[in-house]
Amino acid sequence: MLRSRLAPTPSGYLHLGNAFSFVLTWLLVRKQHGHLHLRIDDLDAERAKSEYYDDIFTTLDWLGLNYDSGARSRQDCLQHWSQRRRLHNYNAALMRLAEQGDVFACDCSRSLLAQTSPTGLCPGTCRTKNLPLTTPNTAWRVRVPEQMPEQMPEQISEQISEQTSVRFHDASAGEISLNVASELGDFIVRRRDGIPAYHIASLVDDTLDGTTFIVRGADLLTSTAAQIFLAERLGLSGFTQTTFLHHPLLLESPDKKISKSHQSLSLKAMRENGTSSEEVMLRIASLLGITLHGAGLQALLEAFSLDSLRALPHLSAFPL
Ligand SMILES: [Zn+2]
Repeated sequence: MLRSRLAPTPSGYLHLGNAFSFVLTWLLVRKQHGHLHLRIDDLDAERAKSEYYDDIFTTLDWLGLNYDSGARSRQDCLQHWSQRRRLHNYNAALMRLAEQGDVFACDCSRSLLAQTSPTGLCPGTCRTKNLPLTTPNTAWRVRVPEQMPEQMPEQISEQISEQTSVRFHDASAGEISLNVASELGDFIVRRRDGIPAYHIASLVDDTLDGTTFIVRGADLLTSTAAQIFLAERLGLSGFTQTTFLHHPLLLESPDKKISKSHQSLSLKAMRENGTSSEEVMLRIASLLGITLHGAGLQALLEAFSLDSLRALPHLSAFPL
């Protein structure tokens, strides 16, 4: 059975881009009689605020999106479903990487990282420093094999790029191959405050939850690559079989995706301004290239078919 999930983070009010992603996931699951789980990504307790948990439940209810498992309220989440209850699972995955020699400690300061590379990558010096992994205030980075220089004999360089490339199937774009070395480098798997990084928590959750189909924005393409890379290191073969759909992002301006800080595009603001959920469905239908005969989510479900995915502009974005 197809199993998918909605994975909001309670660190801001949900916006129209989240609604698009949730509705698309819901349509795909319901159309295929699958199972939909609500997972709230609340591992970072400092950023998770009670009003944002509440906003998740209010929004799902307002949009009419039902789900088959997961928290029903903030209280229920904190008691039974919070990611913090799975900390031991995430740490077990990190320990396995450590035992395999797949990680190293990085003590680069934020300002040094900002100076050395625009993407905040460790300049590589920590790879060979061999700092003990128990060193306080250090992040753990995964050792991604380096990309070989071009003058390398062809056969060897092909083997190496085989090690750093990951391939996966995208339900809209087809086969995708990404090079983890050039896209991400030695990415962080445990933050300097000791909290497992998003890639670890998300991968372990999807494995434990038996997720078979992940719908996420095109901005998470490199996250998908990072998680498949880790799944291969951790022998999590279920995850490497997952089907993905990376959908276009909604943009608030030609080169900026909607952010949680953009209050006027929050669904909360829309509700308060009197926008109806039918109007939101109409907007989502038009983004999906669907003509509705009727109003609301049910009309959208009737009109939606898997062929609608072909109307998605592959991995690009929708201006608003
Ligand atoms: Zn470093």
